Amino acid sequence: PGGRHETDIAVIGAGPVGLFSVFEAGMLKLKTHVIDALPHVGGQCSAMYPEKPIYDIPGWPKIEAQALIDQLAAQAAPFDPVWHLGQQVTDLSRDEATGDWIVGTDKGTQIQAKAVLIAAGVGAFGPNRPPLAGIEAYEERAVFYRVARKEAFRGKRVVIAGGGDSALDWAIELADIASAIMVIHRRPKFRGAPESVAKLHALAAQGKIDLVVPYQLHGLEGDPETGRLDVVTVADLDGNIRRLEADVLLPFFGLSMNLGPILTWGLALDQNHITVEQATMSTSLPGIFAIGDIARYPHKLKLILSGFAEAASATHAAREICRPGEVMHFEYSTTKGVPGA
Ligand code: FAD
Repeated sequence: PGGRHETDIAVIGAGPVGLFSVFEAGMLKLKTHVIDALPHVGGQCSAMYPEKPIYDIPGWPKIEAQALIDQLAAQAAPFDPVWHLGQQVTDLSRDEATGDWIVGTDKGTQIQAKAVLIAAGVGAFGPNRPPLAGIEAYEERAVFYRVARKEAFRGKRVVIAGGGDSALDWAIELADIASAIMVIHRRPKFRGAPESVAKLHALAAQGKIDLVVPYQLHGLEGDPETGRLDVVTVADLDGNIRRLEADVLLPFFGLSMNLGPILTWGLALDQNHITVEQATMSTSLPGIFAIGDIARYPHKLKLILSGFAEAASATHAAREICRPGEVMHFEYSTTKGVPGA
């Protein structure tokens, strides 16, 4: 992360629509940089329903959401987009000298672009944080919102909080790796898939998992300087406190979406969506386009297939800004081909 870059188009959001816009821009010989708050591409498809089949993608009678994302990433790859993942775009400003836009992220990356495509869907994804005082000091040291590498937890005492599929899957997965697994949930009943719930109870019966229910997270004790965790305190509904000795806390309370900064950039909005001119997907600011779920025009359908068409319209309109005065002859992909094909 960090550094300053120059490109034709900065794409905010690497969901299905942002990904397809990279392909469309590439076909028009426009270079792209793509920024996403998530550490991976795929937007809602990858973050919310990777294994669900989608039935209304033209030409695919049935395709799992993650498989669609893999195909879109492969389709974009020949055009060498530059990815800036795990970063939220926080600022948008105009470079008065050149008229270019400068997109800035929370990690200090700056991208100067002739045009900006906002494909930000329902907003930047981030984990729902439990409201524990001082939790930030332990994040990425003893508190993790996702498991990147199971081995990191070998021999550790792990507290997992949450009652959904992520909490259950990781409790089961880490049962043989961690030295202790404690699962905290505010209800005795878990919400996950029935087979996972059964497995969890079986592991609890074998003494491999300690079910701490009904309890809620209450506090953290340790050394905030080094991020070393010693104790997770939990409370029941009557306020009785239990102290659990632990090295690691994994809170799994789902993802939140934050449109946040985008709403402050001076774009014309309609109920948390960006108003666009449908023919070009242009917003109220020159050179800024919005496509996919975040874009709003009369009779808009929030579907992936509409987003694909919007990506084509927006990149063609952006081309006139990136290459002013250059005449373009419309060509089909069958005529033009793609690099390396
Ligand atoms: P998103 O997929 O929301 O991606 C936007 C990306 O932008 C996110 O990754 C986000 O992190 C990023 N972002 C936002 N703001 C920032 C910022 N400031 N900085 C950095 N990154 C940012 N649609 C269909 O067509 N067919 C279906 O069958 C279907 N089934 C669905 C099932 C479920 C359970 C759900 C939840 C949705 C379904 N949808 C379906 C809807 C479909 O997933 C969305 O229409 C689609 O994902 C929109 O794509 P997008 O690229 O516009 O936005």
